[in-house]
Amino acid sequence: MSIASKINEFSAELPQGTRLVAVSKYHPASAVAEAYSAGQRIFGESHVQEVVAKYEELPKDIQWHFIGHLQTNKVKFIAPFISLIHSVDSEHLLAEIEKQAAKAGRQIPVLLEILVAQEDTKFGFSTESLGALLADKGFLARFPHVVFKGIMGMASHTDDMARIRADFHALSQFFQQAKALVPTFTELSMGMSGDYKIAVEEGSTLVRIGTSIFGERDYSK
Ligand SMILES: *Cc1c(COP(=O)(O)O)cnc(C)c1O
Repeated sequence: MSIASKINEFSAELPQGTRLVAVSKYHPASAVAEAYSAGQRIFGESHVQEVVAKYEELPKDIQWHFIGHLQTNKVKFIAPFISLIHSVDSEHLLAEIEKQAAKAGRQIPVLLEILVAQEDTKFGFSTESLGALLADKGFLARFPHVVFKGIMGMASHTDDMARIRADFHALSQFFQQAKALVPTFTELSMGMSGDYKIAVEEGSTLVRIGTSIFGERDYSK
């Protein structure tokens, strides 16, 4: 099936409150262009050099979302144009985003990444540490050039559907509680090709789908 028909299929399938982030990492600009021609405007990337190159080459009404682990020394390259950073996983990174957003003369929307998966290889805040930070009004006020849009998370890498649902449920519960503390919270980013259906059932507003749209990634390039 073509990329364009996959985009159409997802648009038809996803419920009203859930938007599609087409994850185009490792796929060429031509693949993004094909999805764009089918009406897709939100694309997810996880490497700074790659998103900068695609931003320069492709139409300017594309909304680029950064979804990978972001090194502080690279924030400056995406600060002028990035639409949403899903993967803010430390206070240190937040401080750098604040600095670079101020320099670029804009506010940068972000999601705070929460680690619920049963793996120690992933990045993110614990629900306990993030809950404490958000409860502190002075904390958010330190970042006037950052718009706190919500949270992002990944489920455990497993075939155990009950485990995946429990992870998404925990993220969703935390999101509902955090919304009471942070009025700008509207987005809950969870769900990938293998588990997005469960994520949608648990309340995801942004699903990040790569493989099911663009096919397998070739990491050798
Ligand atoms: C690569 C990636 C995705 C897309 O994964 P697929 O399984 O190809 O849909 C989603 N989220 C994050 C954070 C990723 O790095």
